[in-house]
Amino acid sequence: MIRTKIVATLGPATKDEATLKKLIKTGVSVFRLNFSHGNHDEHFENIRIIRKVSKELSVPVAILQDLSGPKIRIGKVEKPFPVHQGEFIEFFFRPVECGKEKNRALLWVDHPEVLKTLKEGDLIFIADGSIRSQVIEKTSEKLIARVLLGGIISSRKGVNFPGVKLPIPCLTEKDKKDLAFGIKHGVDFISLSFVNHADDVAECKALIKELGGDQPLFAKIETQSGVEHIDEILELADGVMIARGDLGVEVPIEKVPVIQKNIIKKARNLGKPVIVATQMLTSMINSLMPSRADVSDIANAVLDGADALMLSDETTIGKYPLEAVEVMKKTIEEAEKIYPFLQGVGEPVLQDEAISHSCAILAKEVEADRIVVFTRSGISACRVSKFRPNVPILAAVHEEKILRKLTIVWGVVPAAIVTETKNPEKMLKDFLRMALDKGLISSKDILVVTMGSQIGKVGSTNMIRLVRMEEEVATLYPSSDS
Ligand code: PGA
Ligand code: MN
Repeated sequence: MIRTKIVATLGPATKDEATLKKLIKTGVSVFRLNFSHGNHDEHFENIRIIRKVSKELSVPVAILQDLSGPKIRIGKVEKPFPVHQGEFIEFFFRPVECGKEKNRALLWVDHPEVLKTLKEGDLIFIADGSIRSQVIEKTSEKLIARVLLGGIISSRKGVNFPGVKLPIPCLTEKDKKDLAFGIKHGVDFISLSFVNHADDVAECKALIKELGGDQPLFAKIETQSGVEHIDEILELADGVMIARGDLGVEVPIEKVPVIQKNIIKKARNLGKPVIVATQMLTSMINSLMPSRADVSDIANAVLDGADALMLSDETTIGKYPLEAVEVMKKTIEEAEKIYPFLQGVGEPVLQDEAISHSCAILAKEVEADRIVVFTRSGISACRVSKFRPNVPILAAVHEEKILRKLTIVWGVVPAAIVTETKNPEKMLKDFLRMALDKGLISSKDILVVTMGSQIGKVGSTNMIRLVRMEEEVATLYPSSDS
């Protein structure tokens, strides 16, 4: 059982039910729908299939709606073409047919207002920085840039302007429409791209609420400004994603590993989930053989303390989506054998966290097999996860929605939905029976159970109980002749 969760992005390589089922069985607990691609009909179909297979397998799986944000892209390219160092790219302020004439490539981007703010000497990167150019001239209709690093230009590739603060809002008109769609169809999480400061988070959270949603919002950190404002962003966001694709272009790439470690540490201190994303298994997009560097990167992200790791191209357009998930799972499993469990235990904790902190310590001291958390909002399970206990955390909730919310949280097994009753003893027994049936616990296990005496009240967790299944089992199934 892996503690670090796997998020897989859906795409052409992973569209059909059979593949999704295999991905879930292999270890994916969250599917990401990338709203930079696809239309609402396609995403509707994705949502329908995910819900269907999740139900058929009886495995809670969550949907992360990733809003594109002000990601600037070049126009459609009919046939990919190369540009070489020393050649020129003309970036037009109006739509033109993208293509190449002699040593000049003609392109346009979907936010021309940004091009207009650039000046001679500014850098324009295409396709996550794999193609680099520098502005040498500006006219009334275009920018002319010299190619510094050549590559293949293909349709709708992303464009970055390193170090330039974009004159466009973080939440675009498209994002607002996409958000309304996502909330209408009940996605579980939302992530917002290119978050620069806390105001971006506040604006998106307000809109989620206005649209009648209550989804947790992940801020994607992928700009210099996002990195600089990480504390205020984390304060407001429900979680963060370290979006290394754009981040590695927007800041000097050699800074990315340390930024990753710092952000994970900060998020972990606040007990907020953190996702590490992009280029985790690039080597497996076209090959069955992962590179040593990729596998090490996965293991290191686990040991840094991430809650979840994300696959993008590997599962959207890659040739081996299932194998990539398999390699990721096995690598997580190995890394977790030396996991620094019980982080933050023994340090001063907030009063709200005292119970969960104690659960983590108790589980270790009595050599428990599982921690069981009864939680209405999911918060109690997150609080236990914060301390990275050395045993899995089984979450018992009352609503399917909350079960799905916990799919992204480190170490938490969204175990079961129990009917709310006023009687904690009955709820516990119902849960234990269910967990035994499902094989989530055994009749020999020692469990640290935590719940609130006032069932159904958020924030009322006030009990810890040690359950020795050997003693408890007899009371679960009273024999009929007694
Ligand atoms: P993207 O975000 O795939 O939406 O660009 C992830 C990243 O930038 O790493
Ligand atoms: Mn990005």
